[in-house]
Amino acid sequence: MKRMRAGEKRKRTIRAAVLKWYRSHGRELPWRHERNPYRILVSEIMLQQTQVSRVLLLYPRFLQRFPTLGHLAVARTSSVIKAWRGMGYNNRALRLQQLARRVAAESNGLLPRSVEALMLLPGIGRYTAHAVACLAFGRRVPVVDTNISRILRRLFPSMSSFTQANGNDDWARAAELLPRRAAGTWNQALMDLGATVCVASSPRCDQCPLLSLCPSAHRVSRTKKRRTKPESGRSGIPNRIYRGRIVEALRALGRGQSMTPGTLARKAVDDFNKGDRGWFDSVLESLERDGLIRRRTRSRISLPA
Ligand code: SF4
Repeated sequence: MKRMRAGEKRKRTIRAAVLKWYRSHGRELPWRHERNPYRILVSEIMLQQTQVSRVLLLYPRFLQRFPTLGHLAVARTSSVIKAWRGMGYNNRALRLQQLARRVAAESNGLLPRSVEALMLLPGIGRYTAHAVACLAFGRRVPVVDTNISRILRRLFPSMSSFTQANGNDDWARAAELLPRRAAGTWNQALMDLGATVCVASSPRCDQCPLLSLCPSAHRVSRTKKRRTKPESGRSGIPNRIYRGRIVEALRALGRGQSMTPGTLARKAVDDFNKGDRGWFDSVLESLERDGLIRRRTRSRISLPA
């Protein structure tokens, strides 16, 4: 019983310290002032794989072009891919439009409010579903991104070995820490703490509101970079870079225009030579499979209509 009370007390102290820190150190981000679920959703999709500084530049431009879910649903797909310029990982633009079309057709343009229903939509994983449910619809649900996960593992190191085998434990811990009220503020506070203070390499423990509560304070060794499987590509450059270059070259085309594979190859690949043809064709095939390009005939390529 005593132990339980101590655990509760520690959680309360952690919450109070983080929320106090957030009031004076939270980041000023435009989507934080949004109440419109579509706009919050767009920010979350963009933030999945793009740095905040870049999203800050491109988010207003995208919303100016597609101010509502309805505008996005009826737009030409090529316009959506063009408006995604600079964001990278163009598949997200396609999935966002697929989502908009589904919601426009099936739910009168209204995004679902529950985590479960959100997760059924294209491009929405567990993190995004929780973030939208919490930030757009005020649901009291935890949110766990890499930043929050890192704080939890440092704050509760005893769970780390289990967590490595079962990532769900982060979610359980995040749910335990969730305050009764203002879950959105709490989740955003944790995101900011992880993004600016409890960073992956050399965390700034001296500036952390959890310094006196954290068993990992000043004990985090430099995070070793995880070895990742080498991506397939050409001359040490992964295919995803070439995919981005190909889409970028097609973005420059006007409506109804197309390009031959040869012209496209010369624009997207340095020192392209005959021996690269098979490889280049496989990259085009993968883009076509994903719906990012259209091969009108084998000799003409464009963005999808
Ligand atoms: S004290 Fe250091 S390791 Fe612990 S939460 Fe704060 S920044 Fe992270």
